[in-house]
Amino acid sequence: MRRVSVFGSTGSIGENTLDLLARQPGRFHVVALSGGRNVARLAEQARAHRAELAVTAFPECLDELRSRLGGSGVEVAAGPEALIEAADRPADWVMSAIVGAAGLAPGLAALAQGATLALANKESLVCAGPLMLEAARRHATRILPVDSEHSAVFQALAGEDSAAVERIVITASGGAFRDWPLERLAHATLAQASSHPNWDMGQRITIDSASMFNKAMELIETREYFGVSPDQIEVVVHPESLIHALVGFRDGAMMAHVGAPDMRHAIGYALHWPERRHLPVERLDLARIGQLNFRAPDEARYPALRLARAVMARGGLMGAVFNAAKERALDGFIAGRIGFADMAATVEEVLARFEARPGLIEAAMTLDNVVQTDHLARAWTDDAMAERAG
Ligand code: NDP
Repeated sequence: MRRVSVFGSTGSIGENTLDLLARQPGRFHVVALSGGRNVARLAEQARAHRAELAVTAFPECLDELRSRLGGSGVEVAAGPEALIEAADRPADWVMSAIVGAAGLAPGLAALAQGATLALANKESLVCAGPLMLEAARRHATRILPVDSEHSAVFQALAGEDSAAVERIVITASGGAFRDWPLERLAHATLAQASSHPNWDMGQRITIDSASMFNKAMELIETREYFGVSPDQIEVVVHPESLIHALVGFRDGAMMAHVGAPDMRHAIGYALHWPERRHLPVERLDLARIGQLNFRAPDEARYPALRLARAVMARGGLMGAVFNAAKERALDGFIAGRIGFADMAATVEEVLARFEARPGLIEAAMTLDNVVQTDHLARAWTDDAMAERAG
């Protein structure tokens, strides 16, 4: 039996991962599951999948988790250190689907114990791509992309010579506001930003899709995964979300990955890789779909794309700054402290503050430096938001 752990099991990617595991009884042994505040769901999952261990990220949730799992034989633990210890438990395959920079340390721990890391947590690569890739190399293991665009590129590259790649095109649905008049964006509400036209995902990534911070993160993620230069990566708006990415080769050919917008495809591909197994995803009827549309992203509508390109040009720890400022500005929008359009403006201000202190972003890329940079960027984002509000 393959030993698997799922970090962020109570979230959208986590639930989809457990759905796939449950469809193949007897094939997988669940080592660890982790969640945050949804302790009731975590306990249900741990019982249903007979997990060895269930971890909540929050120590104040431990008593409830313990009482819900009483008599089940499932071990319980809580807190960031417990997450790292859980990731350190021997497993063949680990899903990294915690949301936010909190996914970085458990992902590194999973790589260090030699597990194959199925990576949905794009924040890890944005904050510390070189650190993640180096850990995979050092421990002779692999990171398999779970973001649908990167899974698509990975699949399009199978059997190809990476030196023949000319460009990578990742698609974007355009999010909830792709057809809104620009002047309305400043007044977009939380409820409006939290509904996605095509994908059913967690709230944070759904809002990031509306602002295109999600695609901005994916630009950086593409650079890290596939080692191409930023000017080889393009974004195209594709409202149907059926083509997830395309790879263009030097002979002019383009390989596109086409599939229904269902994350179980990318998760299942990473779960069974290098095999392809049956997956319970919709089969597309192209004649019924009729047409696919594409258009260039409007940078005035989506300033996050421009910011991501500046972050890639700067390099160093700027990715950690970008991610932390984005996460904190998103917290601010969710809490009603700033408006939708203020998120990008706030992140841009924080990047400029770090740009003015080059020593901070040119420090060595170690986990400690990434964490410190993350904390400082969050504090400066809070300052920037307070100035805006005041
Ligand atoms: P969700 O918000 O649905 O789930 C997030 C998970 O992380 C939950 O298990 C949550 O626990 C847990 N969590 C929340 N805060 C913390 C914390 N501080 N420490 C540890 N765990 C925490 O997110 P998604 O499943 O949508 O996304 C997960 C990751 O996958 C993100 O990085 C996202 O960008 C990426 N991704 C998601 C896609 C999707 O389709 N959803 C597509 C591609 C990438 P609880 O709910 O119990 O509080």
